[in-house]
Amino acid sequence: CGIVGYIGVPQKISEHQALDVLMEGLRRLEYRGYDSAGVATVADGQIQARKKSGKLANLIAEIEAQPLTPASVGIGHTRWATHGGPTDQNAHPHYGDEGKLAVIHNGIIENFAPLKQKLDAADESFDSQTDTEVAAKLIGQAFQQTGDLTEAMRQAVNELEGAFTLLAVHADQPDRVVAARRNSPLVVGLGEDENFLGSDVSGFIDFTREAVELEQDQIVTITTDDVAIINFDGSPAEGKRFHVDWDAAA
Ligand code: GLU
Repeated sequence: CGIVGYIGVPQKISEHQALDVLMEGLRRLEYRGYDSAGVATVADGQIQARKKSGKLANLIAEIEAQPLTPASVGIGHTRWATHGGPTDQNAHPHYGDEGKLAVIHNGIIENFAPLKQKLDAADESFDSQTDTEVAAKLIGQAFQQTGDLTEAMRQAVNELEGAFTLLAVHADQPDRVVAARRNSPLVVGLGEDENFLGSDVSGFIDFTREAVELEQDQIVTITTDDVAIINFDGSPAEGKRFHVDWDAAA
């Protein structure tokens, strides 16, 4: 299972399309094992997503059949199913805030059952059997309250138990990707006019070797020119900067 995220400047979209960067990262992360894959990008104020069970080749075929509008921001996922079978429907991303929010997740949300009950009672409807969709709905509700993806992520993760790396993009805030981690890996890749996220550095090794490792229970917001880290309580934090000097395999 693997996770990637990307944001670049729209002016350079001809050099770096989000989809190409994400697919390359997912290909590099294939070694971790997976049963489904998916991507979401933001273009023209809308989430565009494609997801498919099986190998990356299936996702690529799906995108060829139904191409995406070029975008400069997005997230990509390979899934190792824990809650809900390895179907197209259960593949990530999952959605919140009436389809304006896309969320991907590696790990397990232990308290998803009671959370789902609460959300059911509040009339949220679910499209999958995953634990992940509960997080997507929580972030979506918090976004509706706050209008800010970082704060929405912060409020949501404070309700979650278990292990998670979560990445989110929102159609109304297309200048950022927000990610959180607890007991699950996440690194940031630093570029020029662009920044990256990955489960490990293989997720962006083709594009940059400058990286920042997050500590437990931290949230990072990447924009094209900034990487801002906070703790789950909202206090500012700093990650650990490092340079990747090993040779990437082809
Ligand atoms: N628990 C989530 C699911 O089953 C994420 C699994 C993963 O780490 O890929 O969809």
